[in-house]
Amino acid sequence: MKKIIIAIDGYSACGKSTTAKEVAKILGYRYIDSGAMYRAVTMYFLEHHVALTNPHEVDHALSKIKVSFRVNSTGTSETCLNGLVVEDEIREMRISQQVSQVSALPAVRHAMVDQQRRLGKDRGIVMDGRDIGTVVFPDAELKIFLTADILVRAFRRQKELLGRDEMIDIDTIVENLVLRDEMDSTRKESPLRKAPDAHQLDTTFITIDEEVDEVVRLALSRMVRASK
Ligand code: C5P
Repeated sequence: MKKIIIAIDGYSACGKSTTAKEVAKILGYRYIDSGAMYRAVTMYFLEHHVALTNPHEVDHALSKIKVSFRVNSTGTSETCLNGLVVEDEIREMRISQQVSQVSALPAVRHAMVDQQRRLGKDRGIVMDGRDIGTVVFPDAELKIFLTADILVRAFRRQKELLGRDEMIDIDTIVENLVLRDEMDSTRKESPLRKAPDAHQLDTTFITIDEEVDEVVRLALSRMVRASK
């Protein structure tokens, strides 16, 4: 069957990556977490004290950064920054608090979008993010736009952080999600918005299994259509 591109976009902590990972596993597709790429760049910028207002410093730093993914022994994809696994560090709150400023920079976006397009050139990929269906792959055969109630999203994120031994109170998490949604939706360069041809899915009251089933069902119908 012909391979397709599945773009999953939406607000922070709506379950995009959990769904995308599972769908990719079921279909035997590659999963790419584009948010992880922006998080890895943010980590590098923080560690090297890159001034976001200085375009030369930003360009220089970008020329030194290589973000890649490797699959570990349990079959899970992990983000690497210049060859080192940074999967846990990039999820820390200190990164979440800076990532939207970094991802709004045009130079950063251009570098990441180029790389994302290269990763998807053979199709057979599930990529989640904010601008995958609108900018990175406007020709994706399946576009999903996830939404969920803010409190549900915050509790999900809190649970994920707890799993990484980071205890953050719910108000701080809500504040971070609201702020990132606002920054991601209002930035000049490829703002977060639903592609007109995206299928919107509210995940507030559905389980991950139901969410995954729905996306796989839609994917199969698009795969059949693409193969005709
Ligand atoms: O998906 P995640 O919450 O890990 O993404 C972290 C941040 O990366 C987002 O808040 C957003 O600022 C940025 N991002 C983006 N474009 C994408 C994916 C993520 O701007 N395609």
